[in-house]
Amino acid sequence: MSSIEQLADQYGLFLCVECGKCVAVCPMGEIYTHVSYEASPRGIIERILLDPGIPEDDSLWFCLTCDLCTDLCPAGVRFRDFVEAIRQVAMKTGITEYSSFCDSCGTYLYPQHILEYLKQALGEPAEKLLTLCTRCRRYHFGIKLKAQMPGKRKVGSPKVQIGNSR
Ligand code: SF4
Ligand code: SF4
Repeated sequence: MSSIEQLADQYGLFLCVECGKCVAVCPMGEIYTHVSYEASPRGIIERILLDPGIPEDDSLWFCLTCDLCTDLCPAGVRFRDFVEAIRQVAMKTGITEYSSFCDSCGTYLYPQHILEYLKQALGEPAEKLLTLCTRCRRYHFGIKLKAQMPGKRKVGSPKVQIGNSR
């Protein structure tokens, strides 16, 4: 049994009864304008069961990992967990072009498709924050904050007033 077949077995893909409930509830169609059936949970399950390998295209990298499909699946398929696991395997085998990583420490953040969607939804000011992991974001914010601490402020920096003055 290949490692992908093992994952398919572990997350119940062989139990799928092809009812299509996961596709009906999946929010990917509302988020992306270009998502195809091949990237839907049922489409991916069919493909993996027919040909248990890592797809070389970007179909694995659209899922938002919301887990709604798992909640509604009558057969107990854990598609979200499967996608997260196979993405890790894909990255370990060198498929990294569909992922985004922290600009500062290189930690995996989320798929490129999700990053592009977030950039569009949140606008340019959020771009810098979106490409930092939470740890590095806090660290960078801490550095900026430290620079504002008494004794660290540049001459001429404005003073900040906190609380009511009487
Ligand atoms: S809801 Fe479950 S059983 Fe139905 S198609 Fe999706 S994965 Fe298969
Ligand atoms: S976990 Fe992924 S496949 Fe399942 S409903 Fe959410 S976006 Fe769709």
